[in-house]
Amino acid sequence: MSSVAIPEIKAMLALPGDSVRQIQWRFADRFDLQMLVQSARGVARGTVARLVAAGERNTHEWTAAKDAMLDAFDRAGITAAFMEPEEGGFIAGPKNLALGLAAFELAWVDGGAATASLAGFLALSPIHERGTPEQAARYKKLAAPPQPGENRKPWRGAFALTEPIPYVGVDTGMLSGKLRIVEWKDGEEPILQVDKRGRFITGIAFANFVTAAVNSDDDRIKGSCVVILEETDEGSFDRGTATKKLVHQLSSTGDPVFNLKVPASRIVGGYTVKDGVIVPNFNHSEVIDAVFRRTRVPVGLMTAAKLLSAVEPVIRYQRQRFRGAEGAKPGSVRYEQGIQQREDALHRLVDVWAAGEAAASLGFAAARLFDALDPLEKQKTAILEERGVHGGRAEMKALKESEQRAIELLRLADLASKDGPEAAARRNELLADSLVHFVLADSEANVLCPATKLWNTGHGANMMREAVSLMGGYGITEDCPGFLANKWMDAQLEATYEGPEAVQRRQLTVTMTSEVFLAQFRMWSREMRHIASDHPGTGACTLASAMNLWSWSLNFLQHATDPVGGKLYHGQRQGVTFALADALSWLLASRCQILDVLELERRGAEDAVAAEGLDGTVQFLSDLCHVQAAKAAGEVSRICAELVFGYTRHPSWDEQEHRSCFLASELEELEETMPGISAMAVDVIGIDGSHPQKAGPCAGCAGSNEFLRLQSKLTTCLTGARLAKDRAADTVSKVMIPEALDYPAAGPA
Ligand SMILES: Cc1cc2nc3c(=O)[nH]c(=O)nc-3n(C[C@H](O)[C@H](O)[C@H](O)COP(=O)(O)OP(=O)(O)OC[C@H]3O[C@@H](n4cnc5c(N)ncnc54)[C@H](O)[C@@H]3O)c2cc1C
Repeated sequence: MSSVAIPEIKAMLALPGDSVRQIQWRFADRFDLQMLVQSARGVARGTVARLVAAGERNTHEWTAAKDAMLDAFDRAGITAAFMEPEEGGFIAGPKNLALGLAAFELAWVDGGAATASLAGFLALSPIHERGTPEQAARYKKLAAPPQPGENRKPWRGAFALTEPIPYVGVDTGMLSGKLRIVEWKDGEEPILQVDKRGRFITGIAFANFVTAAVNSDDDRIKGSCVVILEETDEGSFDRGTATKKLVHQLSSTGDPVFNLKVPASRIVGGYTVKDGVIVPNFNHSEVIDAVFRRTRVPVGLMTAAKLLSAVEPVIRYQRQRFRGAEGAKPGSVRYEQGIQQREDALHRLVDVWAAGEAAASLGFAAARLFDALDPLEKQKTAILEERGVHGGRAEMKALKESEQRAIELLRLADLASKDGPEAAARRNELLADSLVHFVLADSEANVLCPATKLWNTGHGANMMREAVSLMGGYGITEDCPGFLANKWMDAQLEATYEGPEAVQRRQLTVTMTSEVFLAQFRMWSREMRHIASDHPGTGACTLASAMNLWSWSLNFLQHATDPVGGKLYHGQRQGVTFALADALSWLLASRCQILDVLELERRGAEDAVAAEGLDGTVQFLSDLCHVQAAKAAGEVSRICAELVFGYTRHPSWDEQEHRSCFLASELEELEETMPGISAMAVDVIGIDGSHPQKAGPCAGCAGSNEFLRLQSKLTTCLTGARLAKDRAADTVSKVMIPEALDYPAAGPA
């Protein structure tokens, strides 16, 4: 009897620690970020956890204890993480990854605490992104925590876009906030009257300044803008009533009403005067687009943290559950494993864990991308200004050529191993072009940001319900270790604020079909195919097949119509576009997860701590990739099948063309067991003229045949996915966890 040697599988011994995460999420060489993580973690698992355990979430009011949490943020360096060193900060350069890491650590314990810190950054962001140098200097300096020797309270801010119904919500164009000129003396700065009502404004209980979106209500002001309000401005700065939130109670939210006089210099980004009219340099949409583009990523990371934070409490609960049973003695399976003897409980936890890994990988990839994009964007603006191109449509036109160069670069990069010196020279020329780099990073960021916000928070909220369910009744109590029920509800807010899922899907509808992105995506699917040959255990093969199926379906739907001739891929047809956006997000999350595990495998040995038990950790995390890739592929397969087939009418038996096609495929199969059946069919069923087997598929079926070919490839690529899940489940049942959670669960602080 021949025997097949099965390679020994190394098991992960302990939960992935900081050294592993630093490599995966690429901050192993950033000491500043490692320190930020440690100090944010200290506040989260200390101050914040004690507030939650003491029941501070049970009041909507802003209490002294909650206020003290902001001071703790200041002391820990979390507030200063937004500032440049000269503004009172300690991190030089782009800070997207830094803010993402801090939000991740805080949300590990409580989403409201994370939001309380992020909302201050959100208030400053319009000024940071589009403000004049004077505005940036003033407000960032005021918001920075006091430096040694200084005795002052840092300013806190709030961002006011959303208005009472029926005005601004998802549709940010319906502004009712108004701006008028009340005084404009010759040679002096105009004084403006601002009337703005906000709804659900975070940080309003203690805000010293507010960045508010308003529309012109005066012929002498053009369009809209964002304006900075201060609590001491002349007029009324009414903070309004506190919102009766069911979630995130450690942040303050309310419905303020502002009637204030402010100098025109408060218009974010400044203004020019043309023919006696104030023209803001940026309208409110331009400002908020620049802001949300970055601030939505940390929100997605908050939900990722919730999922990963659920793992340890659930494992502990499962293992201890049966210890009271008669005969359950230490060392017995029942005593040691408890509910973990049951496959379903383990498999469901593996699913939660895999989703958390994918969400974190996607979110951190997006954060790093924005760190790379920030300097490129500045370079792009400088280059275009030098050429006399200033923003808006002119810029879009000017970048068209760079887009074609970027696509050419992707094509050349793909052929790199085969091309000659001429192509290599051209490739180097394109590689030296900053605008090409900008276009590539920009196109990717335009997709990764909404995908992170959409998938992490939306799918994350669903998976948090799974995590809660694994704790049984405990899961839906305040006492649940890890505050899982809070996190479940909180995830729904993360899916809502800064633009609910519909907003992200709408954005993806446009950005995922850009020529540059589709060229990048094609390259990524080929990359996954390569990875599959070296690392089949990651599920890269399934993922590559799912990526191909998505690309084919998108292309098909972009050209297809419904039975009455209506275009299928159309902004108004959200049934098609939104579903494809969801499918894409699954793919992107899974791809980032695989890339992070490969990075760990490549670089793990360089770090003494990560190197210990590296094989087992890589094996386990690869198995989670495989589980997640299989799930993503299943989602994509289901969504695309429904879209590709769902908009055609079921062919009637009378449609001759389709009847022949149908018979051709059916009879071909039958012919094998019943030779001669095809010929008989002609006589019996009476198909005229053409023999069904010769008829070939009709136009509709020819298209769907290609879909079915790709879908069937995807299905066969699922090989091993469930074996990976079994292996991961086995590890989950054995992995070591600390004796107790490192933050309090409930009871008085
Ligand atoms: C706790 C909390 C804190 C917040 N903090 C702030 C803050 O600091 N600053 C601020 O400005 N705002 C803040 N918000 C407001 C938040 O950003 C909005 O609630 C959110 O953007 C959605 O707006 P809306 O509630 O008016 O929903 P609506 O606009 O009424 O939309 C409701 C739903 O309708 C559907 N929908 C709407 N439009 C479309 C469309 N075009 N296509 C498809 N479906 C659509 C979607 O399902 C959507 O979720 C906060 C909200 C909460 C709850």
